[in-house]
Amino acid sequence: MKKYFTFIGPIAAGKGTQAEIISKKYGLLHLSTGQIFRDAISSGSELGLKVKNIIDSGFLVPDTLTNEIVKDMLGKIDLSKGFILDGYPRTINQVYALNDILSEIGIELDDAVMIEIPEEDIIRRISGRFACAKCGQNYHDEFNKTKTEGVCDNCGSHDFVRRNDDKPEIIKTRLQHYYSEVEPIVEFYKKENKFLEINATGLSIEEVTKKLEEALF
Ligand SMILES: [Zn+2]
Repeated sequence: MKKYFTFIGPIAAGKGTQAEIISKKYGLLHLSTGQIFRDAISSGSELGLKVKNIIDSGFLVPDTLTNEIVKDMLGKIDLSKGFILDGYPRTINQVYALNDILSEIGIELDDAVMIEIPEEDIIRRISGRFACAKCGQNYHDEFNKTKTEGVCDNCGSHDFVRRNDDKPEIIKTRLQHYYSEVEPIVEFYKKENKFLEINATGLSIEEVTKKLEEALF
């Protein structure tokens, strides 16, 4: 069975949600960049401190540091069950780095999976997103509510955070940036025969999961 995946869809296409559902169902590790950064920071390591300083200053973590952290993390955990990388690689340099890291460990990626939805849907979805301030669990006002209002399903926290950059023009700029970054990534994985595209337009979370399961396993 295939078990090493990366999910590379645009923001708000539901890749985090799907990565979580699929990884739980098939016993794979869900490795999201956000969580990897949070873990590195809470470990208090030198790399973690570097990441914290950059994030605190409001900058994006650069490729080289992201790659170092991913390498460090992948080298420390048991990957024999398989994994879904969520949010990595997001640049072509990260793709090359991941290739090197995995071949060093002796693992071959099975599929790079892209979950696609139209731009207007992305914009509609983004405004409703929020996350647990404590554990990072993602939610949505419309599509993915907490079971009890105001309480995190995962850790019981009452604190939630919303991103400030949810204005359509800011989202559009982010998307343009995303599309230019993702193009060479798609080309790379197409050449490797590892690229899988899932069109999630108008589909519910359950329907996308079903489509993914059919395509992946
Ligand atoms: Zn929580």
